[in-house]
Parts: sequence; structure tokens; C-alpha cells
Amino acid sequence: MQKLQLEKWLLEVDVGRTREYYKQDQELCNCVDCKNYREACTQMDSQIKDVFETLGIDPTKPDLLSEFGEAEDGLHLYMVHYYLAASLVEGKYCLDSDWTSENTAILGNFTFGFAEVDPSEKDDLPMSGLWLEFESKIPWILHDPQ
Ligand SMILES: [Zn+2]
Repeated sequence: MQKLQLEKWLLEVDVGRTREYYKQDQELCNCVDCKNYREACTQMDSQIKDVFETLGIDPTKPDLLSEFGEAEDGLHLYMVHYYLAASLVEGKYCLDSDWTSENTAILGNFTFGFAEVDPSEKDDLPMSGLWLEFESKIPWILHDPQ
């Protein structure tokens, strides 16, 4: 375990365990929303990539992905969750129903926060941990119809 200051949070992270988790074979969803997201991952800003890298997360393998359709600006709103082997030492959890400037941070076009994992939610998690929850507007990159 190692302490890590990230934006508004002090985390205790187990990067090795998080990396192990993302190395597991995972069946990738083949819907166009997921395919577009994975494609967009290759073009993310370096500051976002750095966050994933520092935490040991493979951005192409989210645990949960929801797409909320096309906005007026032509971008698509995505909400994405990633598991990470970590705990929160200082800072606030974000709640699905309550995203505020106190419990989230903005990095480029990403808004993110951390939520506590409920271990009963998923049985394949290596240990208790956190969800890294992202909300972002992402361009449609695939040539497939939306
Ligand atoms: Zn999908």
C-alpha cells in the first residue's frame, strides 16, 4: 500500500493489485457505445491517461459503462466506473445522486470522484476498494452508426 495525493483526495492505493485485476481476461462488451469508448480511450488527454496509469487502471476495461446519448454539441455523455484496490484516507466520497464541487474534481473534459465499493455488489473483486467514477463527454469516433 502506498499513499497518493490525487486532486482533492488522499488515497491509500495498492497499484499492484489493481493492475492484477485489469490483467484478468475480461469479456469485452461489443455494443457500439462500448466500442466507441474503447476507441476514444486511445485518444484521451495525457493528464487523464496519467491518472489511469498512476492508479494501475486499464481504461479500456471499465466495470460499468452507461451512455446517455448525443448532446447538442455532438458529444456523447458517458458515465464510467472503474474498480481500484484502494481506500480513501482524506476527502469525500461522491454519491451517485449527489455530485458536488466538493466531492468531485474536473480534469480536462472529465469529472470524477470516488465511491466506496460495496463488496456484496460484485463477487469477483480481489478485496474491498473504491470505484473511480467518471463522467465525460466523448466524441463519436466509430464509423458504425450511433
Ligand atoms: Zn456495451
